[in-house]
Amino acid sequence: MNWDNRISPLLGELRNGGVTDPAVLAAIEGVPRELFVSEPFKARAYENVALPIGRHQTISQPLVVGLMTQALALTDRKKVLEIGTGSGYQTAVLAPLCRRIYSIERHPQLHDEAEARFRHLRLTNITSIIGDGSAGWPEQAPFERILVTAAAEDVPRVLLQQLAVGGIMIIPIGVDEHDQRLMRIKRTTDGAETEDMGGVRFVPLLPGVADK
Ligand code: SAH
Repeated sequence: MNWDNRISPLLGELRNGGVTDPAVLAAIEGVPRELFVSEPFKARAYENVALPIGRHQTISQPLVVGLMTQALALTDRKKVLEIGTGSGYQTAVLAPLCRRIYSIERHPQLHDEAEARFRHLRLTNITSIIGDGSAGWPEQAPFERILVTAAAEDVPRVLLQQLAVGGIMIIPIGVDEHDQRLMRIKRTTDGAETEDMGGVRFVPLLPGVADK
């Protein structure tokens, strides 16, 4: 089956699910998701499902990637912090839509594999490191956008501090896997406005860096 036949039904599902921004759909169309999963899962790479990527982690469901990316309201001027690089799929979708992405992953092996994919795809506006994303990336702050792809108990205060005024953060909140909400937080001059985007299911944001 050729590429168009595999990606078109998925793009249709994303549109039906509310991903209507043509730039976001084009970015998703441009990233071969099969390169972000291992051999046994490649056949399912264009299904609208989360898939295992090792270390008990998952590559996010394409619809969720689309909705989160769209909610970030990106332009090519924006500097983005991403927490939870994972396979690097979400990072690769963000790459053509913003100026630069700083991405943090706590699993060294996942970080190394994601970096190899960025090099292979010649994505040169991504800087990725191994670290605990709960601390953000103070040396590079402030960020106009922050995307967290693991669920936190509450909005980490340090991340809010590293978000520029007028900036947007998307973060799943809730430790109970069956009761997580995707929150869109807009930093204002005197605080933050939050909007509940609906129920989601993400792996938890864990403290510290994992062993190799
Ligand atoms: N967006 C990814 C999927 C992320 S799954 C993709 O498209 O493939 C969530 C990721 O967050 C996992 O890889 C997990 O290891 C990572 N993670 C969890 N807690 C973290 C933390 N405190 N700092 C950095 N990464 C973290």
